[in-house]
Amino acid sequence: MKYISTRQQQATNIKTAILKGLADDGGLFMPEYIPQLDSEFFENLPNLTLQEIGFRVAKEFLGESISDDNLKEIIDEVLNFDIPAVRISENIYSLELFHGPTMAFKDVGARFMARMMSYFSEGKPMKVIAATSGDTGSAVASGFFGVPGIEVYILYPKGKVSPLQEKQLTTWGGNIKALEIDGTFDDCQALAKQILSDDELNQKFTLTSANSINIARLIPQSFYYFWAFAQLQKLGKPIVFSVPSGNFGNLTAGLFAKKMGLPIHQFVASTNENDVVPKFLETGNYEAKPSKQTISNAMDVGNPSNFERMKSLFNNDVSEFKKEIESYSFSDEATKKAMQEVRKDFNYTLDPHGAVAYLGLQALRQAQSDKINEDFVGVLLETAHPAKFVEVVEDVLKEKIVIPEKLEAFNKKEKKSVEFPVDFETVKNYLIEEK
Ligand SMILES: *Cc1c(COP(=O)(O)O)cnc(C)c1O
Repeated sequence: MKYISTRQQQATNIKTAILKGLADDGGLFMPEYIPQLDSEFFENLPNLTLQEIGFRVAKEFLGESISDDNLKEIIDEVLNFDIPAVRISENIYSLELFHGPTMAFKDVGARFMARMMSYFSEGKPMKVIAATSGDTGSAVASGFFGVPGIEVYILYPKGKVSPLQEKQLTTWGGNIKALEIDGTFDDCQALAKQILSDDELNQKFTLTSANSINIARLIPQSFYYFWAFAQLQKLGKPIVFSVPSGNFGNLTAGLFAKKMGLPIHQFVASTNENDVVPKFLETGNYEAKPSKQTISNAMDVGNPSNFERMKSLFNNDVSEFKKEIESYSFSDEATKKAMQEVRKDFNYTLDPHGAVAYLGLQALRQAQSDKINEDFVGVLLETAHPAKFVEVVEDVLKEKIVIPEKLEAFNKKEKKSVEFPVDFETVKNYLIEEK
């Protein structure tokens, strides 16, 4: 399997695509085609474990670049926690992606990426650059912590992540450095891109990115769509996924799964007020905007990086986009109401991101209510444990929530970060001088 940039038809292998992160032309790597799984795999799906599914799917993307034994070992390490589809109501399930070490879905992608990079770099020193709006950074830090030869630099927007998220970014020490940027997530993302494409830095160091732009983040995110089917197929209804979206990596991975043959009925791309994609589907025009701050802050993205990948999957055709994806944007007010409603009616606590996904399912049902019996099972991707957003959740639900021990441990540690203005040269000098 070759990997090609979304901008030019520059082809490379998976090892280079993962180690570089971003293509030389500034584009994102994509597999040259989406592999197909055979009918035997699908017939057997309900009998497979999450790890078996992960291995089969990953193998399609990685081919002969890694031995079966090495890949199995990596998959078993990455997926050492459950991803249950929890019933909220008759036709709504929450796919809980938050049972990993940092309690957010980004653990899945980050753990896989860290291990693949370590495998392919064969011990050569490397600097990993990651911009984060909250959860990416901690998952990346957790995934790479203590990996020899790899230094990780995490750029996060000052004052725009939750106190607990900040602790999860800044308390690692060792090979993990937290750069506190006095700007927005978009500024952090732009700085990361500048670092990764700077000639001088690239001459001095082996640099790579660890955002959702790395193809190694996307591949494992497709596993759990299959796993959800393995759990829910027995219900015998069409399955719709509502994906709370920011950079659209999670949704792109879902599109991979569908193209691999998984019969997903429909995707809902659910966003907060950062509504570039819903607007695009409505008008056909893509207009990047500055990001707006919301209570679902991991989705505060004004120019989603994976849009370029989705475009290439749909050959730039808006009508193809529309066939697969309905997209809706929701206010913080609506999100809070949804959290209250689900708590009250179903005794289930959603975090703000999952609540946006819940609203997406409601909106789809409403939009389809005129069609005859469009009865489907809606699966919302619950991307973070509610305790990760404890301030918002307690304020909205007017009740205390229990903080899992895994998270409490971070709170007890001391923050260490270096502050920076939004200025590339300053950050660059730091990288050069920092040992
Ligand atoms: C990153 C994140 C999202 C958005 O995922 P994308 O792949 O960037 O669209 C949603 N929810 C949470 C909790 C996240 O951390």
